[in-house]
Amino acid sequence: MKYVIKNVNLFQGKIDSKIISHSNVYFEDDKIVRIDNDINVLDDYEIIDGSDKYLLPGLINLHAHLFGSGKPSKLLGGKSNMQQMVIKAAKSKYGLKILDNIMQKNMQDALFSGVTTVRGVGDFFYRDVILRDKINRNEVIGPNLIVSGPAITVVGGHGDQTFALSGNNEKELLDYVEQNALHNVDLIKICITGGVMDAKVKGEPGEVKMSLEQAKAICEAAHEKGYVVASHSESNQGVEIAVRAKVDTIEHGAMFSDEIAQLCKKQNTAFICTLSPALPLATFSPKLTKLNDLCYYNSKVVLDNMLKGIRKALSYYIPVGLGTDASCPYAMQYNMWREVCYFAKYLNVSNSFALYTATLQNAIILRMEDKIGSIEVGKQADMFMIKKDPLQDLRALKDVDMVITKGKVYTDCNIKKNLEIENELDKLL
Ligand SMILES: [Zn+2]
Repeated sequence: MKYVIKNVNLFQGKIDSKIISHSNVYFEDDKIVRIDNDINVLDDYEIIDGSDKYLLPGLINLHAHLFGSGKPSKLLGGKSNMQQMVIKAAKSKYGLKILDNIMQKNMQDALFSGVTTVRGVGDFFYRDVILRDKINRNEVIGPNLIVSGPAITVVGGHGDQTFALSGNNEKELLDYVEQNALHNVDLIKICITGGVMDAKVKGEPGEVKMSLEQAKAICEAAHEKGYVVASHSESNQGVEIAVRAKVDTIEHGAMFSDEIAQLCKKQNTAFICTLSPALPLATFSPKLTKLNDLCYYNSKVVLDNMLKGIRKALSYYIPVGLGTDASCPYAMQYNMWREVCYFAKYLNVSNSFALYTATLQNAIILRMEDKIGSIEVGKQADMFMIKKDPLQDLRALKDVDMVITKGKVYTDCNIKKNLEIENELDKLL
């Protein structure tokens, strides 16, 4: 297992990285061992010709749910009897098998689209933990997984009766932290506010559901056990509670005050931007998205507020990471590259900063920057190769030629995409 990618255009993923042409990248087993620009490559390495191609660090998706494809479905919105029946059926022995297969296929799609690390932030019945372990034992193909198990929410909160465990009081919420720890999760996910689909009033998505005291108690317990805490927070007040409770990452985000910005800097709080479902839901015709009037209106509020919050975070140099919220309507598992494009376009950052954010910055937020996020000697061999220059046009990320994860090389990266949805989404680029 000794390879050299010869004569490739290299983007290392660091904040000031440019394309370095005629690079040779050597990797042995799962590690990158040497990078040079020599005309001749060392013997005993199997040569992969990188001529005219571009090599990048594997993308990192910081916010995904593993269970869904991203295809819009009535089952995803609100709560319905049908939805509860499907969830109940999934819990049967046969249902779990189907769910496992779907999740594994989804993660294979993610990998073949150039994503070598996925952080799962809310899935059913700890099947995300089981899949992570299967991938780590090399039983199935997939990216590095960092998973939360089920999210923790309050009764009536976001994810209640679906991908979250819901508690009535502090004791019950803390029991769930314990339960998730016993199931060997990697982080704790909480839902401080509601979401677009739970809102009951126009203009009030992201209504606060979990109190500051409850969120604080969870964060203290989780931190004591060595876990970071990610919080679903989709309103100004929801962000403020999350920051005061000392969560580590604020998912989606919204506008916040200067005082909260200072607190974020002091505590090293990060924001995770997830435009992938927000943009289509807020801008596509409700005829297409099948959203009711209320959800359509609130989607626009969420998108607008998320953009304001992320803009403010960037202006304060608060770390901003990227995730797709895959499984949500229009957030396909294989479309992390779109999130990178959206970030560049709608937050007005350079292509190279967007790529840095999706790779090394995301790794820093994961506290895994020693291991992943850039192409450097000593790091894990997680990379992907494309045909065109992504710094010229980020849409180049779509056409993946080769993916390497932990030193394993995949050249047949075919994904069966939903072309109708892809065509619609192209209008947002
Ligand atoms: Zn989510």
